[in-house]
Amino acid sequence: MRLILLGPPGAGKGTQALRLVAKYGIVQLSTGDMLRSAVKAGTPIGRQAQEIMARGALVPDNVVVGIVAQRIEQLDARKGFILDGFPRTVPQAAALDRILAQRGLALDAVIELRVDEAALIKRIESRIAEMKARGEALREDDNPEVLHNRLTAYRQQTAPLVAYYREQGVLRTVNGMAPIPEVTAAIDKALPSEPSGRPAREVGGLKKNEQPSA
Ligand code: ADP
Repeated sequence: MRLILLGPPGAGKGTQALRLVAKYGIVQLSTGDMLRSAVKAGTPIGRQAQEIMARGALVPDNVVVGIVAQRIEQLDARKGFILDGFPRTVPQAAALDRILAQRGLALDAVIELRVDEAALIKRIESRIAEMKARGEALREDDNPEVLHNRLTAYRQQTAPLVAYYREQGVLRTVNGMAPIPEVTAAIDKALPSEPSGRPAREVGGLKKNEQPSA
């Protein structure tokens, strides 16, 4: 199963990704997490990304595309993956299409978590307040001004992916404002019952003498 979770910050992508990981035995690939590790480790990419992330802007396409291309190659991603936070721009989506096509792979679905922006802001603000109350460390980009920038970046650069994937026929939209278990149920219903699980080039039948790959 190869999936993308699409939705603005705070839409609940991480929560739903964890469930899908458990259900399908696939890995969650979050570019936000990967970039935060790079920042923490002080790698060249991390040093480049730090300031960009802190103001809620997007890291350059070539940087994140490079990270994802490498990550998808790793053994644990063979069975499938959920991309969370990637792609975030149309050029990233086009690059992903090329990366998958080169490997004879295809996406099973792109799940859009649709949310109301005003409610979203409230949701994130209360999440921040709860974390503060528990004395937990906040992310550097978890503050109202940066949140505003992250939402603007989503609206301007990421929202066009909804039409992009609708045209490809893989978009499934669910209501992200529903309670968590209901969102989960809606995602389950939206997913193909038989994930392709095999390279796209095999769809339509194998050629003579061709062995199905494991
Ligand atoms: P959010 O909670 O806003 O969905 P993420 O954890 O996915 O946040 O990402 C945090 C930050 O990392 C983004 O604001 C952006 O600066 C950077 N980032 C993550 N993924 C990408 C991407 N695919 N393209 C560009 N920048 C990214």
